[in-house]
Amino acid sequence: MKHRELENLLNALLESANFTDYSPNGLQVEGRAEIRRAITGVSASQALIDAAVKRGADALIVHHGFFWKGENPCLVGYRRQRIATLIAHDLNLFAYHLPLDAHPELGNNAQWAKAMGWRVCGRFGRQDMGFWGELPEPCRLAELAARLTETLGRPPLAIGAKDQRIQRLAWCSGGAQGYIEDVLALAAMTGIDAYLSGEISEQTPHIARENHIAYLACGHHASERFGPQALAAWLQANTELDGEFIDCPNPA
Ligand SMILES: [Zn+2]
Repeated sequence: MKHRELENLLNALLESANFTDYSPNGLQVEGRAEIRRAITGVSASQALIDAAVKRGADALIVHHGFFWKGENPCLVGYRRQRIATLIAHDLNLFAYHLPLDAHPELGNNAQWAKAMGWRVCGRFGRQDMGFWGELPEPCRLAELAARLTETLGRPPLAIGAKDQRIQRLAWCSGGAQGYIEDVLALAAMTGIDAYLSGEISEQTPHIARENHIAYLACGHHASERFGPQALAAWLQANTELDGEFIDCPNPA
């Protein structure tokens, strides 16, 4: 498959034209025209780029690409090194940020729910990025934290009483702790007991406690492996490409 064909296919699949994003979605750094092996991952770090080169990849498809609004664009230091490695190995870099959070099947939030067995009831927040739904059966906050630990491979930071009853929850992967304000409005209508995201800010516990909802910070990286993983499996199953997910562990 040609690199531009893959870009068109991913743009259509992930409906990237529908999003206003902080980073360009699609082909960010052009490499060789012919693509056979595509590696997916969370972030275009040097470690992931090096791993993709080692695997003989023609395309690296990530959730967190190279270019971000407001960032110093100069190619010096580690930024030069990442681009130098991509270009030296003729490796294409594709990035899909919000489209890969929000996709109703392959996205981080949909796949997080699938991995945990949560029933999706609806969406909330800007560009409908957040999801909300129900556990198969109500449980205590400590049990939910234990299940998340199993699924994500790391314990969440849980704010709330261990024995707090959780039935309905809202979630949004990555750095979506600020959406807690939207969750409060949603909770007033739907009875949300807990909100889950990747990161946490200083004010998040105060807001959660004062509004009697639990908050679980599950890790930005840990909560955003699902989408890239699902995308690799989709490419493997639905195209002639070799699709493989590589995890470069990140505790943040
Ligand atoms: Zn993210």
